[in-house]
Amino acid sequence: MSKKEFIRTLCIFCKSKPTLSLLGLTDYWHCPDCGIAWVKKIPKVEYGDMYYKGKSTLASRVFAPIGKTFYSLRSTYAGNGGKKVWIDVGAGDGGFLSTVAAKKKIGVEVSSSGRKIMQQNGLDTLTDRQFLKSKGLNADIISFWHVLEHVEKPWEYLESAKRNLKKNGKIIIGIPNIDSFEFKYAKKYWFHLQPQFHLWHFTPKSVKKLLDITGFTVNKIDHWSIEHHPTGVLQSFINKSSGSSENVLHKLIKRGTGKSHLAPKDIFWVGFWTSIGSPIIFSFWLGGSIFRKAGTIVVVASKSAYKFSSPKIK
Ligand SMILES: [Zn+2]
Repeated sequence: MSKKEFIRTLCIFCKSKPTLSLLGLTDYWHCPDCGIAWVKKIPKVEYGDMYYKGKSTLASRVFAPIGKTFYSLRSTYAGNGGKKVWIDVGAGDGGFLSTVAAKKKIGVEVSSSGRKIMQQNGLDTLTDRQFLKSKGLNADIISFWHVLEHVEKPWEYLESAKRNLKKNGKIIIGIPNIDSFEFKYAKKYWFHLQPQFHLWHFTPKSVKKLLDITGFTVNKIDHWSIEHHPTGVLQSFINKSSGSSENVLHKLIKRGTGKSHLAPKDIFWVGFWTSIGSPIIFSFWLGGSIFRKAGTIVVVASKSAYKFSSPKIK
């Protein structure tokens, strides 16, 4: 895998000198002030056309109804009332976007196979590049479900969101939170670390700073994400117990990609943590949410009143 080195050696928000003290993970810079972490070397990630062509496994079909429930939970962050325009950034194949209550639905997606599926289902699409150049789409809601940690310049996406959001519109951001019990427990085995995909690891403090710089005001930071948080805890426990960062359970359920066979120890730990060990998983999830140290958070923000000027991020 070819990699290029991140040239950012100061925190983009605090301008603090980062440390390498991210619980022993030496591949990351870590800001001692806002807590944000970023990879030292950017992995070259291809969200190629095969990304959405993974075979539908039995497990993923079994879990499909749960997925539908999660999608309706995502929609609750948008609040009541009819929506005219909803933009989902990193829309994938449009599975979530097609369920939202809005007249016009626009899916922003880097993968052409993902866009093709959306178009076949009657959704409008934009490439990432088109979205970053767009303005005045007048959206009620712009959602980012586990997207900002993947992109090299997350602020560009928020600047574009600001240009395309109507006056009282809202943005909804789901992201992993490295300031979490889960990361402190699992460290390199943390499910959401995913060094091959995740370039940034936000904390509530740093995401507030990012939104502030790009002209948004945070309305709410939710630590009770049922969709991503408990599953992240479960997978992190399985990873740590089996000494593998393969995220076997996640791969099995999500898509038929990657490692398709399970080693006996993986089967054992999946079995253990989904049965006898499940009260521990449940307590960990509950504790993370109650103490606001959840492994994933959902942030809802609206445009701030002051006139936006381009952020001074390099
Ligand atoms: Zn910082």
